[in-house]
Amino acid sequence: MLLHKKALFNPQGETDIRRGKILGGNPTNLNDFNHLKYPWTSQWYRQAMNNFWIPEEINLAQDLKDYQHLDPAEKSAYNKILSFLIFLDSLQTANLPRLTEYVTLSELCLCLNIQTFQESVHSQSYSYMLDSIVSPAERMEILYQWKDDAHLLARNTFIGNLYNEFQEKQDDVTFVKVLMANYILEGIYFYSGFSFFYNLSRQGRMPGSAQEIRYINRDENTHLWLFRSLITELKAEEPQLFTPELEAELLAMLQEGVRQEIAWGQYVIGDKVSGLNSRMLSDYIQYLGNLRWQSLGYAPYDPAHTHEPPSMAWVAQYADANLVKTDFFEARSTAYAKSTALIDDL
Ligand code: ZN
Ligand code: ZN
Repeated sequence: MLLHKKALFNPQGETDIRRGKILGGNPTNLNDFNHLKYPWTSQWYRQAMNNFWIPEEINLAQDLKDYQHLDPAEKSAYNKILSFLIFLDSLQTANLPRLTEYVTLSELCLCLNIQTFQESVHSQSYSYMLDSIVSPAERMEILYQWKDDAHLLARNTFIGNLYNEFQEKQDDVTFVKVLMANYILEGIYFYSGFSFFYNLSRQGRMPGSAQEIRYINRDENTHLWLFRSLITELKAEEPQLFTPELEAELLAMLQEGVRQEIAWGQYVIGDKVSGLNSRMLSDYIQYLGNLRWQSLGYAPYDPAHTHEPPSMAWVAQYADANLVKTDFFEARSTAYAKSTALIDDL
């Protein structure tokens, strides 16, 4: 089925939310927070709003000192991982509004809009990290490394092409594939990089960078929740779309994403960084691949990797912003309190 951009001002749109549809509906675009087709969107919205954070509130003074003492392999990994993450979050910021134009359920568009805002904050947080830690010349080099580094370019091309496919062909099957590409990005591509930052942090190095990543990680978890739900609710609404052929294709995409993330981890981290090695990363990413596939309601595709590898159990502990009640290095709670009213002087 070909998809059309939804109408903007549409007084003749459907007002009975029970007849609302993720794709091909006829929405009025009114945001009615009291009548939701999917009640989980209300919980999601509140969670995402409560996750609000400001990158500059994290002190990077220690990171500036530590960075000078990273060994060359660690420094190279730090730079390349940042270069990749900046690209991912920038592309997410640009891509999500393109999807929203075709989603015909306002409550889901609200969630996607908040996600877009958060992806913008993520790209800004990397910029703040670079501004604070490296010279302007190094910053430029890191920002554009993805154009010259063959591995980085190959990774970004794979993701970029999946996103571009929906720019060129707006049909429902391509939409499912772009949802899956987002789900893989949120659930697989970030994880070698996140592990690298948490590993430095557990050695008492680059604490501010790890804290930035912890907040980003928390947001990415809600994005993963959103995309998993988008895929599973769409499957419930349009079961005929999910043919065995399409499901095989989605699995192949996930497996390719896992393969690329492992190859990437070996390239940037490999056995060159103390506290991590290729085997740990590959076990971990294979486990995540299975977990993501199971979260969509399917049986694990790789029965050899159905449990979290004990060697990587520390990642979840370092990633959990709510578990770590106070930040290790600052006397501030990692969970932001409800914001006090801002007084506007206009
Ligand atoms: Zn992000
Ligand atoms: Zn995200």
